[in-house]
Amino acid sequence: GFNCGIVGLPNVGKSTLFNALTKAEIGAENFPFCTIEPNAGVVPMPDPRLNKLAEIVKPQKVIPTTMEFVDIAGLVEGASKGEGLGNQFLANIRQTDAIAHVVRCFEDENVIHVANKIDPAADIEIINTELALADLDTVEKAIKRVQRVAKSGDKTAKAQLDMFEQLLPVLNEGMPVRSMNLDSDQMALIRELCLLTVKPTMYIANVSEDGFENNPHLDTVMAIAAEENAVVVPICNKIEAEISELEDDEKSMFLDEMGMEEPGLDRVIRAGYKLLGLQTYFTAGVKEVRAWTVRIGATAPQAAAVIHTDFERGFIRAEVVAYEDFVQYNGEQGAKDAGKWRLEGKEYIVQDGDIIHFRFNV
Ligand code: GDP
Repeated sequence: GFNCGIVGLPNVGKSTLFNALTKAEIGAENFPFCTIEPNAGVVPMPDPRLNKLAEIVKPQKVIPTTMEFVDIAGLVEGASKGEGLGNQFLANIRQTDAIAHVVRCFEDENVIHVANKIDPAADIEIINTELALADLDTVEKAIKRVQRVAKSGDKTAKAQLDMFEQLLPVLNEGMPVRSMNLDSDQMALIRELCLLTVKPTMYIANVSEDGFENNPHLDTVMAIAAEENAVVVPICNKIEAEISELEDDEKSMFLDEMGMEEPGLDRVIRAGYKLLGLQTYFTAGVKEVRAWTVRIGATAPQAAAVIHTDFERGFIRAEVVAYEDFVQYNGEQGAKDAGKWRLEGKEYIVQDGDIIHFRFNV
């Protein structure tokens, strides 16, 4: 699975967000092979298409795809220098696929701010400086290592050395490597470093109930994000915490009253998914209608491997119906009759929403 680490200064609303997200947590019985740490939660991907498919197929079970969120508390100024806990936090971030950086954009006298002032730019800088310093340390060590190999004439080492040296001034400025817009060849050269500041990042701007518009704090976060290729999801954690306590029918009433189309959390989950370049395909049988996650650009055998690794090796073909066709022609048989049922081979690039039946040898 893919995961997203929640970071931010103390008292910005990380736990409130994490708790609201994991209230919707999916039953562990559906995922017997996942071992979930106490600070991690598996959150279902909201996807109305799944309900639509279930209406047509009427399966015994409906299983959404998921995304894991990890609450990484305790990232504070000086973490990159810390031997013990500081290092531990950075190690936790290193293991995540993407970063959700919560920034306080709400005013509330009752909630103490670590610096006694609501200042998103300063807050973001503290966290980003720690991450950049940690990366700087990694890059400096790597440069020493590849210098020796490069001297012996190794071409890759030379290319790496050149690339690593380009990272130094950026990190020294406290800017994330993400902001450099590296191409795929350059990314390949730095992959082994597992840098923190290269991870796709979204800023979760935690605003007050009336802080979605005309909020200079939010504007500040937007401007910073634009500069470094990050996205912003404005959210009011306080409202989200309330919504997460409600039953389903109360939920839709509350959302209507608030003039919201969906919980803000759904936007967070979706943004995380998009950030990671992920898409969904479905399997639809009478036993189970289920959503699965694959990277955009995945081939049919790679998509099959998400269900079971043996499926990739034994892949014969994929029987595919596009989501719109499946709905329009009321299921597989209807789609077949309308000529919308396709046989695809191992080169097929899976499209978002495909309903797939894999044929394979075991
Ligand atoms: P963390 O230290 O970043 O995990 O922050 P918490 O989630 O524990 O929140 C710190 C305090 O801020 C708690 O008292 C929360 O109730 C409060 N808080 C969190 N989000 C909001 C919000 O959107 N508005 C207001 N007014 N208070 C919030």
